[in-house]
Amino acid sequence: MNTIDTDYLVVGAGAAGMAFTDALLSHCDADVVMVDRRHAPGGHWHDAYPFVRLHQPSATYGVDSRPLGNDAIDTHGSDAGLYERASGAEICGYFRKVLDEVLLPSGRVRYHGLCDYLGDFSGEHVFRSRLTGERTCVRVRRRVVDTTYLEVSVPATHTPGFAFDADVRFMPVGDLATLEEAPSGYTILGGGKTAMDACYWLLQNGVQPDRIRWIRPRDSWVLPRTCFQPLGLVGGTLEVFAQAVEILAEAASIDSLYQQLEAAGLVRRFDRSVTPTMFRGAILSAAECEALESIEQVVRLGRIRRLSSKRIELEHGDIPNDPRQVCVDCSASGFLARPARTIYEPGRITLQGLVGGFTCFSSATIAVVEATRADDVEKNRLCVATPTLNEPSDWVRAYRGMLHTNVANAADPAMADWLESTRLNITSGLARYADDTQVQRALGRVAELAESAARNADRLLAQAGN
Ligand SMILES: Cc1cc2nc3c(=O)[nH]c(=O)nc-3n(C[C@H](O)[C@H](O)[C@H](O)COP(=O)(O)OP(=O)(O)OC[C@H]3O[C@@H](n4cnc5c(N)ncnc54)[C@H](O)[C@@H]3O)c2cc1C
Repeated sequence: MNTIDTDYLVVGAGAAGMAFTDALLSHCDADVVMVDRRHAPGGHWHDAYPFVRLHQPSATYGVDSRPLGNDAIDTHGSDAGLYERASGAEICGYFRKVLDEVLLPSGRVRYHGLCDYLGDFSGEHVFRSRLTGERTCVRVRRRVVDTTYLEVSVPATHTPGFAFDADVRFMPVGDLATLEEAPSGYTILGGGKTAMDACYWLLQNGVQPDRIRWIRPRDSWVLPRTCFQPLGLVGGTLEVFAQAVEILAEAASIDSLYQQLEAAGLVRRFDRSVTPTMFRGAILSAAECEALESIEQVVRLGRIRRLSSKRIELEHGDIPNDPRQVCVDCSASGFLARPARTIYEPGRITLQGLVGGFTCFSSATIAVVEATRADDVEKNRLCVATPTLNEPSDWVRAYRGMLHTNVANAADPAMADWLESTRLNITSGLARYADDTQVQRALGRVAELAESAARNADRLLAQAGN
């Protein structure tokens, strides 16, 4: 077996592994080996449906050292007036270029695609090539970086959690774009962001809302995209952040928190008569929300148990089906729901979100802290993992994480420099707004309320029983 030595073995070359490695290289002289079972960097984006786009602007996605897209503002479509968002194909092409033009030319990264990491065998890490079967042993001087703890699950590659008969017209969401003949209607399976994207795409392509039946086991709170705009629109983003912090500082319960957030336009739902039980950080534009609200056939009978061409069996009852109806699988879970894990452990880093989503910013920040601090206690104080977002109380966790990462850590001069300079931070570049009264007022309000908001966040989470 071939043996190689390195400082860091990064398992997974998805967005998290790429953002981590890029930031690590910029902040220290480490040597890195990357291993991924896919043929190219980019992770789950390679299996995404053809009409997928980022939820957030491209301007804050990818790696720190290279922009994604042109930082342009859309002039038409659902995001008119907001920063552009990359498609899946653009993201895959971008990560390929980052590998070929940034990481490999550094001379400090060795990339092994189409290789499975098999594990740690008494301190020797082994991966095996899918093409040759050859095994390689990696001796790691510093740490293994696990980017797979929250591995993403998407419809094209997951196994649905329900049974279906052979005669049902069942397809993963991506196959919608390959339909050759119009079905009698579309049954969308799942309540998450993929289902929202599928419904919106159908509506945009001329399907009338009454031909869409949306099986939504849970309704979701969603975040307006206007609230997450960087660069020239950062003033509005800060204003909204300050408002959210004010509400968080004073809310008496999770229910009243959402009442206030909704009244202020900081969260949205598709049906005001239903209280959502899900919050997964989906970010939508107003045009997308309005279109989705036009779908009236919403089935709320819990999870799907079995699909047949005549009937759909759900947890709380059955509904009819017909063989010409297409059932579109949007039920993959996205990130695995796993408890937060300590990020820096002896010999290991487990990449996770610091701020509820925003994978690239979180991963790069973890790399900078790794490269610039000596002590794990200090590193774990600066970088605290936020669990995967799933239920309404997780909004509180996400904002608790944002306050810790962006406000508490900003008291540390080196962290403040990173937060101000990285393109991955939605509120970087604030020095340019020293004379902008809107920005300065918002910053003042956040600084004043950050501590009480963090305290109340802990109280709300304890009250919610988690
Ligand atoms: C439709 C969609 C839209 C999204 N939009 C956004 C957005 O706008 N902003 C945002 O921040 N996030 C967004 N996300 C979240 C998104 O998941 C992250 O941005 C990011 O792409 C996740 O990257 P990752 O590296 O953590 O995981 P992955 O993309 O899953 O990468 C992990 C990699 O590890 C490899 N791997 C796993 N196990 C092994 C092994 N044993 N050996 C070798 N290789 C292994 C896999 O092959 C994979 O390539 C979106 C997610 C989805 C599904």
